[in-house]
Amino acid sequence: MDRFCVADARSWMGQTARLIAEHEADLTALDTAIGDGDHGANMDRGFGAVEKNLKTAPVVDVASLFKSVGMTLLSTVGGAAGPLYGGFFLALARVSAGKQSLTKPELQQALQEGLTDIQRRGKAQRGDKTMVDTLAPALVALAAMPDADIATATKAAAEAAAEAAKATVPMLARKGRASYLGERSIGHQDPGATSCALLLQALASVCNSLAQEVGAAGAGSSLA
Ligand code: ADP
Ligand code: MG
Repeated sequence: MDRFCVADARSWMGQTARLIAEHEADLTALDTAIGDGDHGANMDRGFGAVEKNLKTAPVVDVASLFKSVGMTLLSTVGGAAGPLYGGFFLALARVSAGKQSLTKPELQQALQEGLTDIQRRGKAQRGDKTMVDTLAPALVALAAMPDADIATATKAAAEAAAEAAKATVPMLARKGRASYLGERSIGHQDPGATSCALLLQALASVCNSLAQEVGAAGAGSSLA
């Protein structure tokens, strides 16, 4: 079986918190160039709080875990990204309702609903130079691998996301604070697209490290 369970979701959040903390200064530098320089601190505060709150949150399944993450991000991140990432995880929670674990199609559908929620709230399309420019192509990459296991598919999604974040450099910002700069937003990588690539990198690294452990042990994990 190939399932994404509560422990995997917890590891995803832990790995995201580590990656965001490691890249806080980079995210700040990107947001200083085309925004107000708070994206690194906003995201680090948010995922630090996610880690802290998950220690005591009443987590009984993947839905309750994602709900705790969404509520925490909504109340701690602030800026434009807070409600967007918060809504993303609340959408994941809605799709996962009542499920102890997710199959690959269920995980894919949950992420897709997360993207839909971001676009419903923020009205950004691909090409507007936002986090949508990373998440959307990552999900296209995921959908292009219907027969792959979760580890392989999330790795492809993370690679697509990393490329897509770089591809925001020549874009003209049409949404959010960077859009106030008009043409001057061209030539800089979007901070939200970059943090979103870290989120997908964390997902892939969790799924792949579990897959390797299974390979080494011979059997026994949810991601076998
Ligand atoms: P703020 O711009 O309020 O300071 P942040 O710096 O935390 O908020 O986040 C900025 C990021 O939020 C941008 O780099 C962009 O990726 C994302 N963003 C802003 N507006 C939107 C939107 N309408 N839709 C999707 N993402 C957006
Ligand atoms: Mg900002």
